Amino acid sequence: MQREIEMLDALFEYATEGIIVSDSKGVLRMVNPSAERIFGYSNDELNGKSIEVLLPSRYKDKHVVHRDNYIEKPSPRSMGIGRDLYGKRKDGTEILVEISLSPFTTKDGSFIMSFIVDITERKRNESELRIAHESLKQTSEALSSLNTELEEKVRERTDELAEAIQKLAESKQEVMRALEKEIELNELKSRFITTASHEFRTPLGTILSSASLLLRYELPADKDKRKKHIDRIKSSVNNLTEILNDFLSIEKLEEGIVRVKPQIFDLKQLTKEITEDMQTISKNGQTLAWKFSGNTEILLDPQLMKNALINLISNAIKYSPENKNIDVNIEVSKSKVAIEIIDQGIGIPSEDKLHVFERFYRAKNCGNVQGTGLGLNIVKKYIELMNGKISFKSEFGIGTTFFVDIPLS
Ligand code: ADP
Repeated sequence: MQREIEMLDALFEYATEGIIVSDSKGVLRMVNPSAERIFGYSNDELNGKSIEVLLPSRYKDKHVVHRDNYIEKPSPRSMGIGRDLYGKRKDGTEILVEISLSPFTTKDGSFIMSFIVDITERKRNESELRIAHESLKQTSEALSSLNTELEEKVRERTDELAEAIQKLAESKQEVMRALEKEIELNELKSRFITTASHEFRTPLGTILSSASLLLRYELPADKDKRKKHIDRIKSSVNNLTEILNDFLSIEKLEEGIVRVKPQIFDLKQLTKEITEDMQTISKNGQTLAWKFSGNTEILLDPQLMKNALINLISNAIKYSPENKNIDVNIEVSKSKVAIEIIDQGIGIPSEDKLHVFERFYRAKNCGNVQGTGLGLNIVKKYIELMNGKISFKSEFGIGTTFFVDIPLS
């Protein structure tokens, strides 16, 4: 028995937990060294004092009530579950404590044994941990939003880069197109020099010989001969003009400076002008017969129309023999102008049909008829500028008909 008492004493003396025993009136009856240390008191200083000295004064009154209630229904339990419990040290500073209560009764009355742990440090650590955790959370959130921002920026930059690359590709294409056009124009110019030196030779030769022969035919009786040579000179000049006109037109088309300028005009009136122009190049016995149907007052570009018709009709004249008529039928409806230019000339051989609209292309049977191979290419472009279409049917040795359809709006 003695030994057990010694063991209990040692437990009380050396326990790291604070242990205090108070009676039913709240008077401290036993306080172990750990409890004294927790509350900053020295040996036995607390014995006989009210338990409330260990509480901040704001809790004192409530504690007395709690204590009385507890004494009536005592049971072992922890104190203040779910909230912080404060204790007051001798020097007035407050500490956070964890307390569990164990009631017991002896022959001297009812007592409460309280086990006390100072958790101030632990709470501070917990709170520091919580703060650290919170700031970690904030940092991680900030990082994540920074990351999102960065991703967005990378996406934006990637888009910008893609756009820049696209623009670069486009401008490269533009430069290539301009270069190709430049090369084409250069080819056209050198082709012009070749064609001019070749095609100009014949009409210039004719002009020279006819002009010198004219000098010889002074007598009135030589009138017919004079007319023949003057006609030759005229026709040669026409040839030269045609070649020059073809080159000028193609150059303008290449440079994209040909604009459609629609206006209301009378097609009949226009054809009269064309007939006059064509007289100088038509051969003996070739007449130009026009047929119209519908209202010939139309809204189109008269200049483009005239150029296209002159080109097609002069081809019909050039590639037809003497005494063969050229018929031009014009049919105007609400939606379009349909034109047929019919000749009874040399026709276009089957193997050339696919190519006659190509630049500088001349059919095998064109013989020594002067030309550049540009006319049909120009006509096609003029007609397309007016949203129209051109086609033809031709029979070798029989004749050719060109069909032109231009929509009217
Ligand atoms: P060109 O200056 O040679 O007349 P075009 O481009 O006007 O050039 O015509 C191309 C070729 O198509 C001509 O060289 C000719 O062989 C053929 N051609 C054009 N129109 C006719 C036609 N009415 N009859 C026969 N051949 C034609």
